[in-house]
Amino acid sequence: MLDDMIDYLQDIRQRPVWQPIPDDARAAFRSGMPAQGSDLAEVHQQFMQHILPNAIGNTHPGFFGWVHGGGTPVGMLAEMLAAGLNANCGGRDHIPIEVERQIVRWMADLFGFPASASGLFVTGSSMANMIALLVARFRALGREVRSHGIPPKRQLVAYASAGAHGCIAQAMDLAGLGSANLRKIPMNAQFQMDVVALETAITADRQAGLQPFFVAGTAGTVDVGAIDELPLLAALCERNGLWFHVDGAYGALAALSPALRPLLDGIELADSVACDFHKWGQVPYDAGFILVRDGAMHLDTFASRDTYLRRDARGMAANSPWPCDFGPDLSRGFRALKTWFTFQVFGAERIGQVINETCLLARYLEEHIAARPELELLAPVALNIVCFRYRAAGDIDAFNAALVADVQESGIAAPSATTVRGKLAIRVAIVNHRTGQQDIDALLDAVLKLGAARPQFITTESA
Ligand SMILES: *Cc1c(COP(=O)(O)O)cnc(C)c1O
Repeated sequence: MLDDMIDYLQDIRQRPVWQPIPDDARAAFRSGMPAQGSDLAEVHQQFMQHILPNAIGNTHPGFFGWVHGGGTPVGMLAEMLAAGLNANCGGRDHIPIEVERQIVRWMADLFGFPASASGLFVTGSSMANMIALLVARFRALGREVRSHGIPPKRQLVAYASAGAHGCIAQAMDLAGLGSANLRKIPMNAQFQMDVVALETAITADRQAGLQPFFVAGTAGTVDVGAIDELPLLAALCERNGLWFHVDGAYGALAALSPALRPLLDGIELADSVACDFHKWGQVPYDAGFILVRDGAMHLDTFASRDTYLRRDARGMAANSPWPCDFGPDLSRGFRALKTWFTFQVFGAERIGQVINETCLLARYLEEHIAARPELELLAPVALNIVCFRYRAAGDIDAFNAALVADVQESGIAAPSATTVRGKLAIRVAIVNHRTGQQDIDALLDAVLKLGAARPQFITTESA
């Protein structure tokens, strides 16, 4: 099994990035629960036949969809060790908790947070952003909010750029504050939150009797990779007494690259930072992370006193506070181990280099797009994401959506589609350490060839 998986990763470039799922593979997963067991080898055969060839393809160097990490064999092996230990990292006194705490300190150092900062591994930044929002809610409404909920006539309002990830609005929803109470602030030409518009919105909400409490800056927007002006946001939050959160889901780890670190200036002023090791950090899914400046308030937001979770000064119930005191999960796997192995084996510098190289590849793609009359860039390239389209007559959005599907189904490369300022864009996010110039060339060739081959839909107006 191990050999098969290592061979798979080694020879990944020979495979199609993705392929439409054959009917027999889908059908294989419609059978009922097996009453009797079968041979491990036989079950593994089913994995090799139906699961392995029909993955989404994010380990492949030609995968550019969304922001998916590539993973490494080192992370894979560490995950196997973690499963073998079967550690439950909710709490209690064992070394896996210390591994997680060590990474909390590494991240506090990386982002310039004090030693008293707290942190926690979570599934992903969706959960990390949610935790940050809940700590901010606790600060705004006090301890009472945990037992009595939101007091009547106290409407909390949050702010993020129009380019912020949807999980911020979802966090408002889940926290009982309402997604409509997230103000989506317009973006400037660089796709950064317009700070003047933000201040205006805060003032208007105050005048309307509402309570502004939370600003989420984004370091690496999911559509175009823009980084909000963090120092300006920090100063504005300071002036207004608001919680300053940074959603650095994929972008915050750019701090590992000396060339990119200046782009994140101001992150050290945040009250909390969300980031994902499973994106640019190349750690296998899932490995999200939240860092909070005020560790005591983070603890107060989640800690409970259930008797079966009793703490002691000695024995296995020592070593409090536990990770379960910093988030909603009690039982938790050992996500820290694959992250720890990744940093130990490759080192922070090498991970930072990989991150910088993906940005250089994005520039390379940008230059080639500028040189091709068939193609049009749709957003400035801030980091590793390139949004462009194929110039076509007629319904250009429908043309480009179809072209993205053509390229995906070709198996040569896998970009995704998004909408940038109302225009459908071919979106290329370069995240994988395996991706090189040859993969960018192959993507460009495929886009140009399939774009030229696709009939253009001429509408009546343009005809
Ligand atoms: C990926 C991403 C998220 C969501 O993170 P998950 O790990 O998928 O939960 C949030 N914000 C941004 C900017 C992202 O890129």
